[in-house]
Amino acid sequence: MKEHTFAGLTKKEWQVNPLLKQLMDTEETFWLNPNYTSMFDHPIVQAAKVKEAEERLNRFAPYIAIAFPETKPMNGIIESPLVEIASMKSRMEKIYEIAIPGKLLLKCDSHLPISGSIKARGGIYEVLKRAEEIAMKDGGVKETDNYELLASDEYKELFSHYSIAVGSTGNLGLSIGIISAHLGFKVTVHMSADAKRWKKDKLRSLGVIVKEYEEDYSKAVEEGRRQASLDPSCHFIDDENSVDLLFGYATAATRLKEQLNEKSIIVDEEHPLFVYLPCGVGGGPGGITYGLKLAFQKNVHCFFAEPTHSPCMTLGLATGLHEKVSVQDFGVDNKTEADGLAVGRPSKLVSNMMDSMLSGSFTIGDERLFDFLRMMAKTEAYYLEPSALAGAYGPVQIFSREEGEKYIIKEGLTGRLNQSTHIIWATGGSMVPKEMMERYLTRM
Ligand SMILES: *Cc1c(COP(=O)(O)O)cnc(C)c1O
Repeated sequence: MKEHTFAGLTKKEWQVNPLLKQLMDTEETFWLNPNYTSMFDHPIVQAAKVKEAEERLNRFAPYIAIAFPETKPMNGIIESPLVEIASMKSRMEKIYEIAIPGKLLLKCDSHLPISGSIKARGGIYEVLKRAEEIAMKDGGVKETDNYELLASDEYKELFSHYSIAVGSTGNLGLSIGIISAHLGFKVTVHMSADAKRWKKDKLRSLGVIVKEYEEDYSKAVEEGRRQASLDPSCHFIDDENSVDLLFGYATAATRLKEQLNEKSIIVDEEHPLFVYLPCGVGGGPGGITYGLKLAFQKNVHCFFAEPTHSPCMTLGLATGLHEKVSVQDFGVDNKTEADGLAVGRPSKLVSNMMDSMLSGSFTIGDERLFDFLRMMAKTEAYYLEPSALAGAYGPVQIFSREEGEKYIIKEGLTGRLNQSTHIIWATGGSMVPKEMMERYLTRM
């Protein structure tokens, strides 16, 4: 009988690589990217695309401020706080018996307005871009108009002739459903089995069509893409391949730079910045990494965090097989409580981009996600969803593992760590219903 192979090699052949053995055994891992290069030279045209996304979001700000009154204080700009978490830092140092030099901050995308997750960046941006195209083509809108007018019944009627569709594990569907329904689009969300009930209920209450699948994220996306292709008036938001999503996410970096400035936190050669980002299919963390590299070049060091049961990006990058392999190919089940990260196959677009940009990645077990969840609630009173805590393990990895030390030496950062800044990117949580949060907090 022929032995079962994963991407052309037998399990035994793959397991010669210690990292792959650990990934297959769903052990926690820390991987340094051998292809990482601090030489970041980006094509100018791409930087222009991020700027274009920023300008588009600014044009929409008057509309957002009206449609979502909670954004009024920010004048319709969808942005989240950046906060120092010194108590959490002390707690982590004590529990893990390490020293974390420099400052530890939390980027609270968990508290982004409209949909309470990182998806309020890319997802909403792509829907707005589509709305603008239609409003310009069929509604006579110009860039110089005040976009408040898009909240009128006249434009709602116009948008109702068009539809939007998306496949999601929950949060992307939530973001796209909410903004699309507000604008007046017909919107269909294809939800994977991991998607939480409350997210589907919330969408249905807004008139969004929710289709449910027994399978995981890849299936929900595939079906969504297929069904959308049958309807010429439908725009499919393709989480696995969309550059618009990516540019929407990337705008986070310019804003972060301003927030760091406001706090008088310097990022330069003497003051390195480390950012730890939870990764599902890769669009969110990939777009933000891309933006951060444009903003800070070699002075920012980005690491992705994945659940031990869904390490799709690490697997894709470490094998060099990118989107051609899934975690299931390697016998890993893609079952995790971190529903936002339950993705078995990485984005082709992002895995290729990250090949030289990403410093490394690590995996974290579900139990530890809940440890961090409780720790964050107790020390800082931030209530986050499990996915959002994956990045919290980053500083521990850097300052306790041999590979962490190796990275610091290789990048010439020894002696600069006392002036370093570490940002845990909290990607979701503020919309989790109270009873559900209670269950997260008391889970043992
Ligand atoms: C979607 C999501 C992520 C990861 O984003 P990807 O674009 O899928 O990599 C992280 N955390 C939460 C809470 C999410 O919903």
